Amino acid sequence: MFDKFSQFRPLHKEVWRIPAIYFAVSGAWILLSDTLLGALPLPLDELVWFSAAKGMAFVAFTTLLLFLLIRRAYRKQLKLEWANQQSEQFLREMLLASPAVCYRLRNREQGVVLDWISDNSKRILGYRAAQIPDIDSWLALIHPDDQVRVRQVVAETSKTRRYRQEYRVRHADGRYLWVYDELCLSDIQQGDRCYVGAIIDISEQRQVQERLRLNSAVIESIHNGVVITDPNGAIEWVNSAFTTITGYSEAEVKGKNPHLLSSGHHEREFFTHMWHAVAEEGFWAGEIMNRRRNGELYVEWLTVSRLLDERGKVTHYIGTFSDISRLKSTEARVQQLENFDPVSKLPNRKGLLQQMTPAIEEGVKNGSLLAVLCLDIIDFKKVNDSFGHPVGDKVIREIAHRLRQRLRDRDGICRASGDKFVIFLNQLANPGGVDIVTKDLLAIMSQPVSFTGLMDIYLDVVIGITLFPQDGEDSETLLRNAEAASNHAKFRGRNLACYYSTDMTTVVSRKIELEGRLRQALQHQEFVLHYQPVVCMSSGRMVGAEALIRWQPPGEKMIAPGEFIPLAEETGLIVPMGEWILRDVARQLKAWLDAGLDPGVVAVNLSARQMAQENLVDVLRDVITQHAIPPALIELEITETSLMSDADAALGILNTLRTTGCKIAIDDFGTGYSSLAYLKRFPIDKIKIDRSFVMDLQESRNGEIVHAIISMAKALRLDVQAEGVETPEQRQWLQGMNCDTYQGYLFSRPLPVDSFEAMLRGDNA
Ligand code: C2E
Ligand code: CA
Ligand code: CA
Repeated sequence: MFDKFSQFRPLHKEVWRIPAIYFAVSGAWILLSDTLLGALPLPLDELVWFSAAKGMAFVAFTTLLLFLLIRRAYRKQLKLEWANQQSEQFLREMLLASPAVCYRLRNREQGVVLDWISDNSKRILGYRAAQIPDIDSWLALIHPDDQVRVRQVVAETSKTRRYRQEYRVRHADGRYLWVYDELCLSDIQQGDRCYVGAIIDISEQRQVQERLRLNSAVIESIHNGVVITDPNGAIEWVNSAFTTITGYSEAEVKGKNPHLLSSGHHEREFFTHMWHAVAEEGFWAGEIMNRRRNGELYVEWLTVSRLLDERGKVTHYIGTFSDISRLKSTEARVQQLENFDPVSKLPNRKGLLQQMTPAIEEGVKNGSLLAVLCLDIIDFKKVNDSFGHPVGDKVIREIAHRLRQRLRDRDGICRASGDKFVIFLNQLANPGGVDIVTKDLLAIMSQPVSFTGLMDIYLDVVIGITLFPQDGEDSETLLRNAEAASNHAKFRGRNLACYYSTDMTTVVSRKIELEGRLRQALQHQEFVLHYQPVVCMSSGRMVGAEALIRWQPPGEKMIAPGEFIPLAEETGLIVPMGEWILRDVARQLKAWLDAGLDPGVVAVNLSARQMAQENLVDVLRDVITQHAIPPALIELEITETSLMSDADAALGILNTLRTTGCKIAIDDFGTGYSSLAYLKRFPIDKIKIDRSFVMDLQESRNGEIVHAIISMAKALRLDVQAEGVETPEQRQWLQGMNCDTYQGYLFSRPLPVDSFEAMLRGDNA
């Protein structure tokens, strides 16, 4: 297409060529032919004829020549016009397809007019040429925010002769387009001054630019360092956090490898592994120690990922990292706190275990002897309660100091809990050494702790001792066994030491085993209730019973409650067990009533743990309504000690229990420290005198106590019941004292349901 243009030859050359050739050829012909004729020896008339013939031949020849030349020129003209048309058509098509709207402005008297605009203006801007006749109608389409700026640039064009600017212009459909407008003075001068320009729609680019600007603003604003490298690892870009963390500016690192941050603390394999992961999984993350520009080491959490092009070739690597040095040092501080006791400044249990483990490993290797001493301060709580916690802390510090001073450097000491120190004797020469240290420690502890202005504080301690290797092969076991030994020592007295022996743990493991069995027994319903009759003193008739639990493991001897109730209390198992007892008593009562028997009031023992249960009242109500029994047939027995441990709370609980309509009795009365003031306020029906007073009534003090209890109960209008009446004398004595009811072997032992039922039938008959 473009070679067509090379065929254009300026027409003026053609204009001169034809006359020039004609002049040359005709001139030459006349001269030559006349000379030839003059030279011929011919008569005149022949000469005239020849001359006429020569003239005719010349005319014929020149006519032919003229014809050929004109035809040639005409053909060229035609070709030229065709080429012009073609190129015009080509230009129009190009402009139509082009993204640039081209235009020409002309300075006219009436102002600047739009002289010409390419046809694509309709497609790109939505307007035809006729819709934008002059520059003002174009300026009117510009976004109000850009108006002033654009008008100013346009006004200066006569001086500047060109401009390049970006602004928003309203498309015919109403939306604004971002356009790039470039204009310059045209070289073609045709009278008026003329400008040519082009407008390109750059809305999409602006959007991309805006997004990019936003993205880079985000990257700049984050606190993580970002570094982008080319596929060879040369840094192309870093953000400002990179500079903040590393100390290197972008200019300093551009083109360099991120390895310049290397601390030299990582082996070559570390990086091999890292790049292998990036190549295989496209990603690596981990901790890495680097060096800042000022030489300082720091730990960063680094993520390296790669950027691929559409053919899967790596175009960039991107590293993002955060400085976690502070986090690390916090972690170290936390770990220190975790392993240390802030009061005594000694390691805590965890800290000591950490020290012991390598020493034990050493002991295994060298066969050396080690010992663990658990020093327990008895009733340290008293010190805190009497003098306050600040003094308590000072005492602990003083003791820690004294104990530490007695030990060798290779020994360890920790504060394992509030009132417990654990001492670890490393590499003992002989077992006798343990005795010496123990004696010394006891002696140290027998010295009072004195602070000015305070009375001397004396502390009682016990020490439990375990030896490695015989009492345990790891630090945990040795420590646990030393604690078992110190617990054992507490039973034996104060200010003494006790070596560990295996039976100490058998007690513990028996307990664990029993707990498991108890749980199973509850699931398999291995418990039964026995009923011990309650007898009226004056009539000698049965007026009720106390339900007492028994454990009957299948195929084994029945187990008395004394053996499992304390453990059930300790583990909380007493709560579900107590609920079962309540339900079974209610079910039994209902069965007896339905059978026309009158069991009277049946007493059920409530444990302290059960009393603390919030839903106890709900359970009671549920049990009563489920079996539709009169609530007054159930008497709840609560021990005096459990009531008095928190009398205010107990008062609230008793008041709510009372709303169920059940009766309430105080069990084991006389064993605790009842206050008369409370007794008066408690909503109770009965007092049960503890068996220990009934047992030795002959003893004058016991007799007096029982007498006093009965008088007081009477004054408070409460019923009195005696427990454990075994002899007629006891019964008589109590009857003489006005005791209302009694229970005991004298009348009956607690009975299984069928025996009790048989007794009921006899009694009811
Ligand atoms: P407790 O509530 O003081 O129960 C009375 C205990 O004295 C019963 O022992 C009973 O068999 C015994 N006993 C009755 N009369 C005499 C007597 O004349 N002489 C002698 N030596 N003992 C007599 P048991 O059944 O072994 O119960 C012991 C304790 O176990 C109960 O003392 C109670 O504290 C607890 N216990 C028993 N059953 C339950 C229960 O269902 N729930 C709860 N929470 N505790 C229960
Ligand atoms: Ca009882
Ligand atoms: Ca009792």
